[in-house]
Amino acid sequence: MKLVDLHLHTDFSDSTLSPAELVQVAVSAGLSAIAITDHDCVEGIEPAIKEANKFDLEIIPGIELTAEKYGKEVHILGYSIDYHDKAFLEKLEKIKAIREKRIFDMVEKLKELGVDDIEAQDVFDLSGMGTVGRAHLASLLKKKGWVSSVSEAFKKYIGNNSPAYVSKFNMTPEQAIRTILDVGGIPVFAHPHNPGDDNLISEFVGYGLKGLEVYYPGYPESIIKHYSSLAAKYGLILTGGSDFHGDVKEGSVIGVPRVPYELVEKLKQAKNEKR
Ligand SMILES: [Zn+2]
Ligand SMILES: [Zn+2]
Repeated sequence: MKLVDLHLHTDFSDSTLSPAELVQVAVSAGLSAIAITDHDCVEGIEPAIKEANKFDLEIIPGIELTAEKYGKEVHILGYSIDYHDKAFLEKLEKIKAIREKRIFDMVEKLKELGVDDIEAQDVFDLSGMGTVGRAHLASLLKKKGWVSSVSEAFKKYIGNNSPAYVSKFNMTPEQAIRTILDVGGIPVFAHPHNPGDDNLISEFVGYGLKGLEVYYPGYPESIIKHYSSLAAKYGLILTGGSDFHGDVKEGSVIGVPRVPYELVEKLKQAKNEKR
């Protein structure tokens, strides 16, 4: 059976593997197609395609946008997007600027708490060219010895209720779905167990949602069935993937769970129907 992984992050967002390394692992895992779905950025797509051209591996250009609804974070995946679209790239630049400002604000708060040897630039150096986030700041806190683990960094300093936390501006799911539709993409509700509110699905369908991520690490058969039946109810295609983040997220393995290539065909059908 031909297998795929439709949810993968590179070091352009918050993973530890470069696009080329990711492609090499996917090839050794025997996958036929992968989607690059970095958080709020598309820079990893082209290098992945370049590397995949050496092999028999298909790359689906994607993205994962962060949105917020009723105080909960919601992730919307976009597949087969036109990642060269100018207005789209400008929007991503704006999101990047907001993320960077947040790092400056959190570093400022850390200074007030006595964490005096961290500069925002150190965090940006760590994140490289891609999307910067709290994970990078957490790694730096660990590196500088203020905490012994990334999870402690969140608990002690930058977690949602911790003293150096700065809230994030997020777009609404409606805006995220619209953004993906505007560049010819297929918007998909990522890992619906998190936020875990099934009522959101019908609401998002009203905004133009086209798919539901039903295969995800740790989903038991009963959950897959549950989301598959909801997808059928609303006429949504199914997607799935590992949400691989390299060493940042322990336990995620490229190609796990097993996702059949058939889903890519459905994705392409949905893309063609849109035209
Ligand atoms: Zn996500
Ligand atoms: Zn993800």
